[in-house]
Amino acid sequence: MAKFFILIFPMEPRKVHIKNFGCQMNKLDSSLLGSALEDAGFILSTKAADADAVLINTCSVRGHAEERVFSHLGHLKHIKETRPQIVVAVIGCMAQRLGAELLEHDAVDIVAGPSQIPQIPEMVIQTLQSRKKALSVTEKIRSKNTEAQSKALDDFEFTYDTDKNHIPGQAFVRVMRGCNNFCTYCIVPYVRGPEISRPPQTIIEQIKKLAEKGIRQVTLLGQTVNSYVYNAGDRSYRLADLLEMTSNIDGIKWVRFITSHPKHFDDSILRAMAQLSEVCEYLHIPAQSGSDRILKAMNRGYTGDEYLALLAEARKIVPGIAIAGDFIVGFPGETDDDFQATVDLVKKARFKNCFVFKYSPRPGTGADNKLKDDIPEEIKKQRNARLLDLQNRISDEDNKRFAGQTVEVLAEGPSKKPHLNKAEHENNPQLIGRTATDYIVVFNGPKSLAGQFAKVRITKTAPVTLFGSLL
Ligand code: SAM
Ligand code: SF4
Repeated sequence: MAKFFILIFPMEPRKVHIKNFGCQMNKLDSSLLGSALEDAGFILSTKAADADAVLINTCSVRGHAEERVFSHLGHLKHIKETRPQIVVAVIGCMAQRLGAELLEHDAVDIVAGPSQIPQIPEMVIQTLQSRKKALSVTEKIRSKNTEAQSKALDDFEFTYDTDKNHIPGQAFVRVMRGCNNFCTYCIVPYVRGPEISRPPQTIIEQIKKLAEKGIRQVTLLGQTVNSYVYNAGDRSYRLADLLEMTSNIDGIKWVRFITSHPKHFDDSILRAMAQLSEVCEYLHIPAQSGSDRILKAMNRGYTGDEYLALLAEARKIVPGIAIAGDFIVGFPGETDDDFQATVDLVKKARFKNCFVFKYSPRPGTGADNKLKDDIPEEIKKQRNARLLDLQNRISDEDNKRFAGQTVEVLAEGPSKKPHLNKAEHENNPQLIGRTATDYIVVFNGPKSLAGQFAKVRITKTAPVTLFGSLL
């Protein structure tokens, strides 16, 4: 596959710093861009202060994420006072949402949305030369990409999805873009556009290439990955087919997929998980609430009981499955009884872990248009803390069963927050690994283990971490 950019800088190679806010999709986009910019002759820098170009990959899912970006732009404006030649690009969901408005910010030179990722290296190169501000977002975000746009995105993904910016041995592969669900609180359909599944042949070719480069675990990414569907002639490919095709690729030992939606969850995915040893027994399946009234107002398309029935089915078909959930607390009109229904659901679900968010009104979404953000911040905070506390107690109890067991992990590398002092950490590094079921395991071992599978005997457990010794 031909590379897109050839740039020979006249002097020193230019430095680029990429700062990521947001989800796994954004991390993947940042990683692809990093590879593309390196290919174009840039050097990746960990610091904004000494970079020629700074890319901020933004998230719009909650107001807080956008506030953090604005505060970061304030910091860059300050840097620009002494180094006015720096080019600052705001990319991703917030760029798509705010477009020209963002370009007016003193610190900003480029604004480009998620569908414009393939054009960004060229935009950076142009702006470094011309110093002219540039804007590229999708005008009608809910209209389908043209074939040419989809192809450009696919080619970019295929070309730059190298493993050099990944955790050793692991890669993320997007199987779908966008979302058609319109959960009433959510901005994603308005910034990432309509749902589109990538062709299975492209995905499989990409994974084969990654496997040849030493990737052992792939995570298939989509906003509602379980609704993956690609029609080719009279054949329809679903997520279960992708899981099977990925499992058959030489070198791929583990395959994961995130995130699933409880509506129309297809049993064939669970059967693939039960039958194929490569498919990790892990499901990230947000519930959002336990109250049927709130779930309806959120337009989620299932009830609390239906959600619990799905978990029971998953545990029947895949006995060892680990399940993670997301919840939003303080959705408009959420009463104490509604919140209690969420607490009850969490008690019954016995998740491995939960992500809990305080409702944040997002401009233009159904909930924000029709409903008042009427739950006081203090109540949102209390409900958030109560739910996390409950989940912590459940995880603490359930994790105890691991004590004395031997688990297999894929080692990621040295722990960022070693529980040992610095000298000890140098001599006998503390590593992080994850089981197929996504449990985090901390153990001592050589740094060279990063990207390798290892057996660890669990000696101590905590709510979010298991501790053990390498066998
Ligand atoms: N597509 C995934 C799904 O449907 O579960 C998740 C996408 S979203 C980026 C990740 C999580 O952010 C959601 O599961 C939800 O809990 C949370 N979220 C989305 N919009 C939110 C909002 N307006 N306020 C608070 N949390 C929100
Ligand atoms: Fe947002 Fe709902 Fe789509 Fe997930 S499924 S991205 S929460 S609209």
